Amino acid sequence: MTDAPAAYQVLARKYRPATFADLIGQDAMVRTLKNAFEADRIAQAFLLTGIRGTGKTTTARIIAKGMNCIGPDGTGGPTTQPCGVCEPCRAIAESRHVDVLEMDGASQTGVGDIRENVLNSVQYAPSSARYKIYIIDEVHMLSTSAFNALLKTLEEPPAHVKFIFATTEIRKVPVTVLSRCQRFDLRRIEPETMIAHLKGIAGREGAVVADDALAILTRAAEGSVRDALSLMDQAIAHGAGGETGAEEVRAMLGLADRGRVLDLMDLVMQGDAKSALSEIGAQYADGADPLAVLRELAEITHWISVIKISPDAADDPTAGPDERARGRDMADRLAMRSLTRMWQMLLKALEEVAVAPNAMMAAEMAIIRLTHVADLPPPEELVRRLSDAPPAPPAPSGTSGATPSPSPGGGSMQARPVPGGRTGGAAPAVAAASETALARFHAFDQVVELIRANRDAKLLIDVETGLRLVRYVPGRIEFQPAESAPRDLAARLAQRLQTWTGVRWAVSIAGEGGGATIAETRDAESDALRQAAEAHPMMQAVRNAFPKARILGIRTHDEVAAEAAAEALPEVDEEWDPFAEE
Ligand SMILES: [Zn+2]
Repeated sequence: MTDAPAAYQVLARKYRPATFADLIGQDAMVRTLKNAFEADRIAQAFLLTGIRGTGKTTTARIIAKGMNCIGPDGTGGPTTQPCGVCEPCRAIAESRHVDVLEMDGASQTGVGDIRENVLNSVQYAPSSARYKIYIIDEVHMLSTSAFNALLKTLEEPPAHVKFIFATTEIRKVPVTVLSRCQRFDLRRIEPETMIAHLKGIAGREGAVVADDALAILTRAAEGSVRDALSLMDQAIAHGAGGETGAEEVRAMLGLADRGRVLDLMDLVMQGDAKSALSEIGAQYADGADPLAVLRELAEITHWISVIKISPDAADDPTAGPDERARGRDMADRLAMRSLTRMWQMLLKALEEVAVAPNAMMAAEMAIIRLTHVADLPPPEELVRRLSDAPPAPPAPSGTSGATPSPSPGGGSMQARPVPGGRTGGAAPAVAAASETALARFHAFDQVVELIRANRDAKLLIDVETGLRLVRYVPGRIEFQPAESAPRDLAARLAQRLQTWTGVRWAVSIAGEGGGATIAETRDAESDALRQAAEAHPMMQAVRNAFPKARILGIRTHDEVAAEAAAEALPEVDEEWDPFAEE
């Protein structure tokens, strides 16, 4: 680098903060440091952590300057407002101060590096400054033995020594080191702060950058000032003297036009495949990268999902007023289920588009798939439509008159009184005393329920699979045994029923005339439901879109409703605000 006036200095370097006042978005840390300096309680070691570009090394240098600054007149003490003009301040700013040693933990990871750079010199007094300061960047990269060597000094550091560590991965720093440092978490810069910062610098540079362009730069920088400034540097160069607009910045970053992607999202969610295809085609013709469009779709899907949970998210300063309104509107209209489904499909589509020989074709296929799925009603709605549809074809196996017929679309066997059951023609008269005890067993179903209630699993299975009911009246069961039926089924059933009801039951075996077993009926019902589902136009639409789709399970509307009720969160006190500060 040269000091010649003609030399261009990149913005990130030119506007690198020189004092705590220049640090943007880190107010909490600055306040704490100020208090410590004023109380003359400067920690022995600092640990600065945060994502890349939040100013960790810059902050480390400012702290070093503050500790060693002697003021313009050479008589000042440690300060949070380093003067920037005294010899120590200038030497530190230029990384040439003999008592301020900077070490890169990423490249100097071994115990030998620590010994050479730190341990060998740590006991000597600083040659010119107040403190000897060791700045170790990316400290988490040090080897275990290097950490151990460092630890001895950290435990009992000489009074003239200070350490400043910086790291992007705090979890990799041993707790023994953590516990000996004052820790500062450098935060991502909030979008509002970043936009204002960029605007200020653009103004000082005499460059005109449109507000929506600044918003796009801010979004792309993801909270890193350094990245934001580098991007703005390029953007201004792209603008070549005139105003730098959103379009140039988007082109520079390879981003899709958010407004148009919102249009596309609308069409997809309406299930309008034709219009969605022509929209993405138009964007492609205008130079949009298909991958960027899908990525933007995914980002919007995420954003809208978050707005559904917390409506404040719509006030994203990197989104224009029009986008915010549309985001809110979509959050109102779209079901969370559709959004999560869309998200999953987009993740998959992004992979496909990235590896497809023709990205646009892959993107178009993804859009077609998305429109099909977005258009599908949620499963509970699908089942409701199925229930309203004409009843399924009758189950293949016949059912005896006494067995309740399967209800179309219904899930479980329903207990239903059999009309005239109690006065069945062939049944002998039942004693009056028994009549009361048997009153609650109108139908054979209730007998099965009794077995279930008494938890006799073996009997239950034998009855469900081995018993073909021929005739039933309360107190009297006639059945034809299925092949699998155990020989003692009749005797065992009679004995148990007598025990449980206190009334004698006549259980007899017939050679023919039995209906389907309960298990067979149940299977037939689920087959019928499955057939109805398979035959339903919605399922056929699914088939067309996903030829390999299989029905894995069918849940009736009642089941879904019951499940939803069980999962519903308890109501929360209205006053409770999860985002309130404590
Ligand atoms: Zn100074």
